[in-house]
Amino acid sequence: MSEIEGGGFALPRSAIQDVTWPAVPAAAAAGLLALLQQLEHTQWWAPERLLEQQLRQASVLLSHAAKHVPFHRARLDEAGIRIRPGRTLYPDEWARIPIMTRDDIQAAGTALHADVLPAGHGPIHRQSSSGSTGKPIESLGTRMTQLLWAAFSVREHLWHRRDPRGVLASIRGFATGKGLYPAGLRLRSWGFPIAALYHTGPAVGLSVMTSTEQQAQWLARADPDYLLTFPSALRALARHCREAGIALPRLRQARTLSEVLSPETRAEVEATWGIKVCDMYSAREVGYMALQCPDHDHYHVQAEGVLVEMLDEAGAPCPPGRAGRIVVTPLHNFAMPLLRYDIGDYAVPGRPCPCGRGLPVLTRITGRVRNMLRLPGGGEAWPLIGEPWYTNIPAIRQYQMVQTALQRLELHLVVDRPLTAGEEAELRRIVVDRIGHPFEIALIYRDAIPRGPGGKFEDFKCELPPPSPAEGSA
Ligand SMILES: [Zn+2]
Repeated sequence: MSEIEGGGFALPRSAIQDVTWPAVPAAAAAGLLALLQQLEHTQWWAPERLLEQQLRQASVLLSHAAKHVPFHRARLDEAGIRIRPGRTLYPDEWARIPIMTRDDIQAAGTALHADVLPAGHGPIHRQSSSGSTGKPIESLGTRMTQLLWAAFSVREHLWHRRDPRGVLASIRGFATGKGLYPAGLRLRSWGFPIAALYHTGPAVGLSVMTSTEQQAQWLARADPDYLLTFPSALRALARHCREAGIALPRLRQARTLSEVLSPETRAEVEATWGIKVCDMYSAREVGYMALQCPDHDHYHVQAEGVLVEMLDEAGAPCPPGRAGRIVVTPLHNFAMPLLRYDIGDYAVPGRPCPCGRGLPVLTRITGRVRNMLRLPGGGEAWPLIGEPWYTNIPAIRQYQMVQTALQRLELHLVVDRPLTAGEEAELRRIVVDRIGHPFEIALIYRDAIPRGPGGKFEDFKCELPPPSPAEGSA
């Protein structure tokens, strides 16, 4: 056992005066530790065994929803799905439950709220997704969903073998007026939930709305062990630090959330600092869905908290290697149950992981359906253009592609110097080649590209209204 494991995560904080070993945790921490102790085992279960327990829990949730949630009562009745309390649904019965969407959540309002909450789940709190595009999603959470969130959050630290005594830096969205340059925020611990269980080092924070130069200067002063930020900010930082010769000698790992993490960003970080990036996939209304494997770049579904299905256009499960829509059921939200919720993202299911964990594998999370490119001939496509111009045309510092009409794309560019006519032609050629359609492409030079609400950055935005069903798009 390493010194880190022995001195850091192995020993929880003790709540009893003058007892340091073995530690006796406080009552609030004990529940979380009990959950983590089970997760330590269940991660190694076979997929069939995980699915069996998921369907058991999902069936209890379904019974509750059918009885206490008007939205689900009506839809389940209509689909002819009835369940006797105590019985577990078969997988084929589960697959008959109608899929719900973001629009359903917004339209249903309080019809999605349960009139009764089972004992021990409360109190209820309200939460709102940051909504980088479109309207935010309002949802309810409970003490129970909060507990699951906390357990997966701690699991993420354990999986990636962090030393909790280190300094954790975050560059992300903060409340207005918080985390401003040059000082940023300084906190004594890494905060809830990890600091409720273990002694941790300090945490420092800076608003992601600051410039990359300011972020790099601030980081050099903070000299952190770990850096948590959005992929777009991380990539810009890695590049800037390499070019400006800014060293971060203690940095051991980068952690990312909220946006799609590209292989190019992983490569840039590896080349600059020689460290790995650990990515997380979560959403406010459902909690953690997948965490990066401790030993690989792909993700493991957090099957103890969510039932994740990946479905093709016909609604059938996708085979490994084929991208499908993510349909998720959070298993413990009894205040506002979401059954088979199409969250609006795509992912590619993978084969079982060599690490031995039975938790299902996602090889790639490709991003949001609502930000798909609309094709002039009807239909939609992923604007998966990759980032080849970063290598072909190094003067491009940042870009954002915006579809402003069915035939027209705007490429917003932040550059070190004006591009030559040859480079502009090369750029247009790359975009048309990758997308496979001769869009009219306007190049627009800008001093900066603003981030969306909550500090998220999207490299593609579609400004057209959603397609109507008559246009033949799902
Ligand atoms: Zn794995």
